[in-house]
Amino acid sequence: MSKFSAVPLAQPIEVFELTRSYNEDNFINKVNLGVGAYRDEHCEPWVLPVVRQAEQALANDDSLNKEYLPCLGIDAFSKAATLQLLGNDCQALRENRAFGIQSLSGTGCLRVGAEFLHSQLGCSVFYFSNPTWGNHKLIFKNAGFTDAREYRYWSQSSRRLDFKGLLEDLNNAPENSVIILHAVAHNPTGCDPTEEQWMEIANVMEARKLFCFFDCAYQGFASGDLDKDAWAVRYFVSRGFEMVVAQSFAKNFGLYNERIGNLTVVVKDPAFIPHIKSQFTLVIRGMYSNPPSHGARIIAYILNNPDLYEQWKLAVKTMADRIILMRKELRGALERFQAPGSWDHITTQIGMFSYTGLNEAQSEYMVKKHHIYMLKSGRISMAGLTLKNIEYVASAIVDSLT
Ligand code: PLP
Repeated sequence: MSKFSAVPLAQPIEVFELTRSYNEDNFINKVNLGVGAYRDEHCEPWVLPVVRQAEQALANDDSLNKEYLPCLGIDAFSKAATLQLLGNDCQALRENRAFGIQSLSGTGCLRVGAEFLHSQLGCSVFYFSNPTWGNHKLIFKNAGFTDAREYRYWSQSSRRLDFKGLLEDLNNAPENSVIILHAVAHNPTGCDPTEEQWMEIANVMEARKLFCFFDCAYQGFASGDLDKDAWAVRYFVSRGFEMVVAQSFAKNFGLYNERIGNLTVVVKDPAFIPHIKSQFTLVIRGMYSNPPSHGARIIAYILNNPDLYEQWKLAVKTMADRIILMRKELRGALERFQAPGSWDHITTQIGMFSYTGLNEAQSEYMVKKHHIYMLKSGRISMAGLTLKNIEYVASAIVDSLT
């Protein structure tokens, strides 16, 4: 009798299953709207030219070696990344109350941050938006959180933010709950609070003594402007909140498989920082000991070089602009084809994803009948659209609705 015989089969991960089915599909006009990665106008993955340039320079630098990094990663990287998030005129940075920790992309930052909050601050309740990115719950549960709760976010009927429901749920949250907030370009809905709404959220979080854990996976992707997309985080910092922020560079540097992220920590007093860092060191030591160097070196090289930094900003804008154009084109095609209902949400939503409003049966029909791969929730990745396939997708949406 094997020890392994009783291992139950886990549910497959929808987004990876979808890509597998897409890859196995021989249909000539198939479209992959499932994957959360940027594609260029030919539907190809894009390695940013500035990243290639940095890699070439690093490859020729004989002073670099393959020694272990410290547990908290490369300082030049985490300092530049933290500055990128908080901005040049951040008071917390001037007062040395903010610092960064290199970790394994956004997911690693979330996991390390959650484990720290659970083990050091005694947090056990976390709130995630309904709906949210499919991994939040698993990450927090694995980090020791025992009480997973939802706050209302999306109204399917109005295809807009359920702001009243959101505030009500945060108002009822117990003190010391950790609230996961999508910093920008909410995944999956593509719908963010307005600046005024963020201010109200901050009021409730302050009054109810809730802890904010920002998840910042798409800085630059919503508007094409890195500063504008950091508004919510910077606003909360300016209000004096203590917080952690999981910053992913998968999307805005196109470094998906390098697993590079920065966990920014903002506290009230710099005197706490050596203690906090010592505990993060233990969390990371016991989890993966120390991070890989490649992605961190690329980013440190680019962010610390003014010319390359400008090139990177342009590349981010190129990606954001293409996605904004695809939104416009898709809405235009749906309206031309007289798809039933209103489609303004396609252009008001922002970031990589759109919540189309298609229900589960309609989304499955899109996959089965039209070979257009999308999540059951009706979420599509705008990056999978091109000027070539957009009419095909629009006509399939019309068919799925009628
Ligand atoms: N958070 C959100 C909302 C995301 O959509 C993603 C990726 O899709 C991540 C975090 C983390 O991604 P990664 O671990 O690849 O940086």
